[in-house]
Amino acid sequence: MSTAPSNYFTHLECSMTGAVLPNDRAHNLSPEGWPLLARYDLDSLKHQVDRYEIAARDSVCYPGFWKWRELLPVKDATHVTTLGEVDTPLVDTRNTAAKIGLTGPLLVKDEGRLPTGSFKARGLGMAVSMARSFGITRMAMPTNGNAGAALSAYGAAAGIETYAFCPEDTPDVNVREISAQGGKVFRVNGLIHQCGAIVGALKDEMGWFDVSTLKEPYRIEGKKTMGIELAFQLGWTLPEAIFYPTGGGTGLIGMWKAFDEMEKLGWIGSERPKMFAVQAEGCAPIVKAFEAGEEHAEECVDAHTFAAGIRVPKAIGDFLILRAVRESGGSALAVDDARIEKARTLCAYEDGLLLCPEGAATLAAAEQAVSDGLIAKDARVMLFNCGTGLKYPLPDTSKWIDRNQKLTADLLKF
Ligand SMILES: *Cc1c(COP(=O)(O)O)cnc(C)c1O
Repeated sequence: MSTAPSNYFTHLECSMTGAVLPNDRAHNLSPEGWPLLARYDLDSLKHQVDRYEIAARDSVCYPGFWKWRELLPVKDATHVTTLGEVDTPLVDTRNTAAKIGLTGPLLVKDEGRLPTGSFKARGLGMAVSMARSFGITRMAMPTNGNAGAALSAYGAAAGIETYAFCPEDTPDVNVREISAQGGKVFRVNGLIHQCGAIVGALKDEMGWFDVSTLKEPYRIEGKKTMGIELAFQLGWTLPEAIFYPTGGGTGLIGMWKAFDEMEKLGWIGSERPKMFAVQAEGCAPIVKAFEAGEEHAEECVDAHTFAAGIRVPKAIGDFLILRAVRESGGSALAVDDARIEKARTLCAYEDGLLLCPEGAATLAAAEQAVSDGLIAKDARVMLFNCGTGLKYPLPDTSKWIDRNQKLTADLLKF
């Protein structure tokens, strides 16, 4: 085993046409304008690498998802940019499960434990490490907040200059986090795809590498580690249903890719979870396309929801999201903001786990799926809490007490 190479990354493939591209230089989209997917020599990997050996790796040398290096694109370990990633826990929210009518476990993969407090760390950790390997010195992206935060943090660690463009109403904490980590951040009077147009317009003049969602091939490789990690945590089995808060869909597409790769390696069988793409009612282009039986989604006009991370009116990988959802026998579901708020309160009150709004959206959708009979009551269900609940504005329901008044128990009533 010890003489096995550590890298099996062979080439890139256009996700629409299958055209092959070399992996020895930086790429954005394929020549035809579609996302590129990284491909590996899985045959050799299968015979040379032992998954139990990988899983047992020391977390100091191989923090979190970096332990799966044979399934990742970074060839030279000196380019690995780490901020102390961890395997995120599967939190068993049994009280919440009972409240939504589930008898099987409701497992929340709590991605808020990652550096910068969201699962964007997986994608940007990988994309920045690859950019570093190609000698890139300036990167830019549109962001609803968390991606920009992860880009600025990993960029700082890698010595890469970063620019982030976000909608003007992006949560304050995200905007400030970006600049606190040295990123150059701009608020824009538009939504995320309009921020993306600014990156497109200025990238040549500014010498930026465009790291927009799915416009380069490696964020997805970082996000796919969610799929490997959850299989490992479940003893190389998969849950019956996964609810994923879907903006650009990187995580959903990435996990689906990871499941295929693991099956080819013999790590799992041909079973798959039903994949549920969860969106907010005020911005549900994937849900509309799913229901209409379309391969691509139309741009959502007037997109609105307080779950900023899933306010993505147009996703370049829409067809990849829709394919995975359909092949899995899952569905695309939209939930409104009031139900998202209710779900956030439910899980926090019942199980002490404060979800972010996007994570809460997956809980609201799971509740709907149970009541609509889309999943069995005894199914093993997994939700993705994509970011820490602490990064979002919370309602202040505290009361004021004047310590000089006569103290009575009456004062404590809510
Ligand atoms: C980015 C983000 C999403 C959407 O993730 P995709 O993989 O791009 O669909 C959901 N929630 C939060 C908190 C995010 O930051």
